[in-house]
Parts: sequence; C-alpha cells; structure tokens
Amino acid sequence: MADKITSRQQDYSQWYIDLVRSAKLADYSDVRGCMVIRPNGYAIWEKMQAALDGMFKATGHVNAYFPLFIPESFIAKEAEHIEGFAPECAVVTHGGGEELSEKLYVRPTSETIIWSSYKKWIQSYRDLPILINQWANVVRWEMRTRLFLRTTEFLWQEGHTAHATPEEAQEEVIRMINVYRTFAEEYMAMPVIVGKKSDSEKFAGADATYCIEAMMQDGKALQAGTSHNLGQNFAKAFDCQFQSKEGVLEYVWATSWGVSTRLIGALIMAHSDDKGLVLPPKLATRQVVIIPILKGNKDEVRAHARFIARALNHHGIPTFVDDSENNSPGWKFAEYELQGIPVRIELGPRDIEQGKCVAARRDTLEKTELLLDDTLPANIEEILNNIQQNLYDRALLFRQENTVEVSSWEEFKAKVEKGFVIAHWDGTAETEAQIKEETKATIRVMPMDAEYRQQYSMDEPGTCIRSGNPATQKVVFAKAY
Ligand code: AMP
Repeated sequence: MADKITSRQQDYSQWYIDLVRSAKLADYSDVRGCMVIRPNGYAIWEKMQAALDGMFKATGHVNAYFPLFIPESFIAKEAEHIEGFAPECAVVTHGGGEELSEKLYVRPTSETIIWSSYKKWIQSYRDLPILINQWANVVRWEMRTRLFLRTTEFLWQEGHTAHATPEEAQEEVIRMINVYRTFAEEYMAMPVIVGKKSDSEKFAGADATYCIEAMMQDGKALQAGTSHNLGQNFAKAFDCQFQSKEGVLEYVWATSWGVSTRLIGALIMAHSDDKGLVLPPKLATRQVVIIPILKGNKDEVRAHARFIARALNHHGIPTFVDDSENNSPGWKFAEYELQGIPVRIELGPRDIEQGKCVAARRDTLEKTELLLDDTLPANIEEILNNIQQNLYDRALLFRQENTVEVSSWEEFKAKVEKGFVIAHWDGTAETEAQIKEETKATIRVMPMDAEYRQQYSMDEPGTCIRSGNPATQKVVFAKAY
C-alpha cells in the first residue's frame, strides 16, 4: 500500500509531493532539479501530446526537429533574449576531451537555432508562412524546482512560425493561445483566463506575450501556456528578409508558443483530492477498472468481469480487470482511487445473480447500481462524460468563489493571500514591481474575453490600487507558482 498522503488542508505543498510520489507519477532524480517521469505520469503526457498534436496539425502545422545545442553567438544575437535567458542556461565548454572554440548552450528555447535555419529557407513571400512545431526537451537552470511545475529539464512543444505580415503573425498568436484554451478546457477540464501579460512578465525577445492562466486549489495562479508575438526581432537578429509581392525586401514576422510537462502539475493541482489523483476521463489511458469480488464460484465471477471488460473496450471505453488474489478488494479500491482511474466497477457473485453491478465514480466517490445488460456501456459512457463536465464546473465555481474585486490597498493585501484579485493598475512597471515586492503577488493576466472583462467591469477607469494614480483598466493579480 502506498504511503499516506498529507491532506490538502494540513499542507498543500506536501500533499502535492506525496501525491506525485504515491501515484507513481514522478520522482526527483539524482540530478539537481531534474525529474524522472514514471510510466503513470508519462501516460498522461502521451495523452496530452496526442490531443495537442492533432490540434496543431488541424491548424496547419507540421513537426520538425532542431539541434539541442545552440552556439553562443546565436543566443547572443537578440539582445533581450540573451539578457533574459543567459543566466538560466547550461553551457557546454568541452567536447571529445577538448575545449570548444565556441561554447554551446543547451537550448532553453529554440528561437535562435530555428531562425538561423529560417534565414536559409526564406527568400520570397512564396516561402511563407512557415508553420513548424517541435516536440523536445529544454533546460533552464531553475533555482526553486517543484516536480512537473518547474524543473531544470522539462519536456514541451514549441511552435515557431514565420509570416509575411504583422497581421498574419498576430492572428497566429491568438489562434494558438485559443488552441491552448480549448485543450485546457475540453481535455484537462481546467478553466483558464486568456489574455496578455504585462511587459515585465513577457517572454525575453517578444513584443507581446499571451497566456492561459489557471487557478489551483490553494488559490494560487499557474501560467499554463504561452503564445508570443515576436514581431521582427528574431528576423532582424538573423537578417532574415523576404521579397514581398510588391518586390520590396522586408523582415519576416515571427511567433512562438509552448506548453510543457507543467500541464501535468496543473492537472493534479486543479482536480485531485486527499485520496489521490483525479483524472479527467479524456486524459486517462485507462478509464474503467473492474474489480471482481472473488467469492463462491470465482471462475464464474472472473468470466463475467472479462465479458464486461470486452464489451466496454468494444464500445471504445478503455477498461481493465484486476482479478489478482494478492490484494484485497479494499486495497484495490484505494489503489485505483490513488491512481485516478475515473470509474471503478465492483462485481460480486450476488450482483451477477441479480444482474447488476456497482459503478463508483472517482470525482465524487458516488456509487450507482447499473444493470448488467446491453445498456451498461452507454451508462458508463454517460458517467464518464459527467465526470469530465463536473470537474470543469467544479473548478470554474472554485475560481469564481475565489476571485474578488478590491478598491483599497488594505483589502488588496488581505485578499491576495488566496485567490485572484481584480484591481486597477496605473500601467507602470514601477507600481507593478512595488506590488510584487510588498505582497509577492504579480499581474497574472490582462484578460481578453469581453465577457470576463464585463463581468468584472475591467474597462472602467479608476485609481491605481497602489499608487493612487489614474488607471485606465483593472487587471488580475495573484500569487503564482
Ligand atoms: P516560455 O517559453 O517561457 O513562454 O514557456 C513556455 C511554457 O513552458 C510555459 O507554458 C511555461 O508554463 C512552461 N515552463 C516554463 N518554465 C518551465 C519549467 N522550468 N518547468 C516546466 N515548465 C516550464
């Protein structure tokens, strides 16, 4: 039996670590800040990859692969980029026993190595757009790490696109942040706020950064995905020009966008409970476990369990049977709750006699009796759909209950301890930095959705929560992971 998980109430951070370990999702490795993703965790990543990859391809993107190493001179070409990333980089100085004539950076992100290729590929408007995605690992020398949420090496995808016009690039930036929103909402059952980052929170080398921002169960914010409008910054750095339709030489417009294994941490923190992982069915490799209660004629109970599993699998519901006699049914119930299998079916000799079984759903732990006839697959499917929707609704309600508008600094300081706080900001980096220093809260997002802006009357002018200066809008503040 797995170790006991600390309750969320008692210590949320410890709960998270206990859960990741007990559910065998990941472990810290012997390498500082780097994690081992175990099969249970990697299965979630594979489901995420498959769904996202399909969405990228449906929006016209193709996959490619670029080198892990980036020459120092490339990284140095874009001034803001090197300033932002250099302190976080691992650098290779030796190879084959010799000191290298030029240091190689282990990629923290691939704009520079990719734009050195794009320069060779792009001559005319006919070569545009380029819509490429890469699935890869990257390294950022993080000081404070936490399994999945912030690790030194992490897995991600990074899209890098090249366009003939700024309008087209901006359209792409918004298209991709909306792809992330759809993925977060429909697959992860996690509501997100879509919007723009403030200048001090934007990507090093971008003109603008858009993000999806989610609330975790402790009220903290998590940046779950980003999409950057890179303007002509990288094209200028790599002297990448194209001949326009009108025959004029122009610099290419760029975007980049990424999500990482951080999403697994987000998934855990958004939905799981003190018994373990709670997985939205759409990201569960195994949606149903059947646990036969092996009493009386065991062979008959086993045969029934297998028959049901076949029927459910045939219906497209991934199902498995645990009929081992090494562990008691009670142990198995706890183990599969810990692993987050969305539905458990309990089946004993008496159930079979009465032509029914018990289905227990992981999100609410409610049990329902279902008939053992050809209505079973459709009934299980309905429960799975219900779980997917309920997780989303529950998380949305939690976010709403933990979002407040404030109009005084005292109130701001009290409320920002837990949840999202909506307040006027004067738009200056100085005020933003001051608020961060005094409260540890940052501007998470300037929401894009008209509905959200209206709900919190974000476009109403007012006075800045900290400086008292005039402010044209409200923004969302929170403490963040
Ligand atoms: P960025 O290139 O900084 O915009 O990051 C792209 C994505 O990677 C964002 O969605 C971040 O949430 C995520 N990310 C950034 N740093 C880390 C890290 N150290 N570990 C895991 N994910 C990260």
